[in-house]
Amino acid sequence: MATLSGVGIGTGVAAGPVARMADPLPAPANVPSTLAADAERARAHEALSAVAAELGARGERAGGLAQEVLEAQAMMAEDPSLIEEIDARLSAGRTAEWAVHDAFASFRDTLTALGGYLGERAADLDDVAQRVVARLRGVPAPGLPDPGHPFVLVARDLSPADTAVLDLRNVLALVTLDGGPTSHTAILAREKSIVAVVGVAEASALADGQTVIVDAAAGLVATDPSAADLADAADRARAHAATASSPPSPGALRDGTAIPLLANLGTPADAGAARALGAEGVGLFRTEFLFLSADAAPTVAAQQAEYERLLAGFPGMKVVVRLLDAGADKPLPFLNDADEENPALGVRGLRALRAHEGILRDQLTALAQADAATRDRGEGADLWVMAPMVATVEETRYFTDLAREHGIRTAGVMVEIPAAALLADRLLAVADFASIGTNDLTQYTMAADRVLGAVAGYQDPWHPAVLRLVREVGAAGSAAGKPVGICGEAAADPLLALVLVGLGATSLSMAPAALAAVRALLTEHSFDDAKRVAETSLAAEDAASARAAARAAASIPASA
Ligand code: PEP
Ligand code: MG
Repeated sequence: MATLSGVGIGTGVAAGPVARMADPLPAPANVPSTLAADAERARAHEALSAVAAELGARGERAGGLAQEVLEAQAMMAEDPSLIEEIDARLSAGRTAEWAVHDAFASFRDTLTALGGYLGERAADLDDVAQRVVARLRGVPAPGLPDPGHPFVLVARDLSPADTAVLDLRNVLALVTLDGGPTSHTAILAREKSIVAVVGVAEASALADGQTVIVDAAAGLVATDPSAADLADAADRARAHAATASSPPSPGALRDGTAIPLLANLGTPADAGAARALGAEGVGLFRTEFLFLSADAAPTVAAQQAEYERLLAGFPGMKVVVRLLDAGADKPLPFLNDADEENPALGVRGLRALRAHEGILRDQLTALAQADAATRDRGEGADLWVMAPMVATVEETRYFTDLAREHGIRTAGVMVEIPAAALLADRLLAVADFASIGTNDLTQYTMAADRVLGAVAGYQDPWHPAVLRLVREVGAAGSAAGKPVGICGEAAADPLLALVLVGLGATSLSMAPAALAAVRALLTEHSFDDAKRVAETSLAAEDAASARAAARAAASIPASA
């Protein structure tokens, strides 16, 4: 059995045959055909009908939204005006491959020029063209595979469009060549509890049909396992499923130290599901997710309605709402300028809100009114409000003063910028609490864009430089007697969650699907263990050795 390593997402394990997502095909050359035009026409028409039939059949299997997308694509392959364009090129003596490619490309350009909804369909046309050309060439179609049985999906990375039509019922596990722990694939895997290992550079060597074991806890993909290896993986998968379905209890270490386990949410609609998984409240409500498609700033009334739903979903529990974090990977047209050369370093988060103080005041008003209204109805939560992307003590004072002026009782700051971590003692002299956003804290500590695959290797919160900054904030929190939460993706990695507790985190917030595995690992260790494991990680020189040192210190075998 050979093993390939990457970054595991979660703690699951799965085994099965590989199905690869093929890379895009190179464009066909514009050369004269050696066949008669009629023969090329027959080839082209056969390929178009076969692709239309296959897309239609896939749509029927998928159902729902995916069926609509796939049926629309099937119609593109049979569109009479497109077929006319293809035939015209074939009559001029071109190959079927080139005629299909070129006719689709001209339609694509027309759609792109129209913009809006039609412009967004241009990528769907490309996808259909690639499928037809692949059939003509007798090679696998690019895009998501559909082998008709459960499979381990191996891809360079998954785009949001891929994941929208990905039928998860047949996906046993995900393995990607690119991507780090905060990539789109990783977030999808965490949300849907899919076993995944990302950033496996050597996965390009995996072949369709080859059996692999994907071990997220160890961050490994094992190829050609023996029957005994497969039986062991099946046992571990069963044990993992039993942990995931065991009745939730409040988060605590073995010695009884309470570590509240909270949910990261982007919509109040997910409150029920989060509570069913044992969320003890909300540690990060990303308000910008509610308004990502809005052109204008939301009204106080529209916001208040959403916040009331959220607070009523967690009666009596802590709910930490983050003010609109606009900019970089989450731009909002009413808060950001489109033209910044480095938006991650630009006017984002609190900086953007401060530049539009009316919007900031409206949001605080909506939150305070939602708090009062839900309390009046006896369904109130314990509302905490925090500002994103805070860099200085002055910004902390500005935000907490304004929040209190609006009647917010508990006002805190996110620590996502190294400057804020290094001055955490001074920030916490002003703010009521801090919440560490490890996604951005890692991005800014390592100077590595969190959405750029080429630098994904740097985006690893296990890096001791990131851990040192967390330690600064943890120490400042315990000296000031103020809470320090974690709300970045790092809290969803059970072993890293233990390390973060050892560094002084007093609560952990994560995608609800990750709660069970984190809860299970915490109960196996005392607070003294957490501090000891954290010390060994801090002493390492890079992320991989910090992770390995923590595994050894927590007595987790390398293959578990
Ligand atoms: C973070 O940066 O870790 C965080 C929680 O915020 P977001 O991922 O929404 O930027
Ligand atoms: Mg952030």
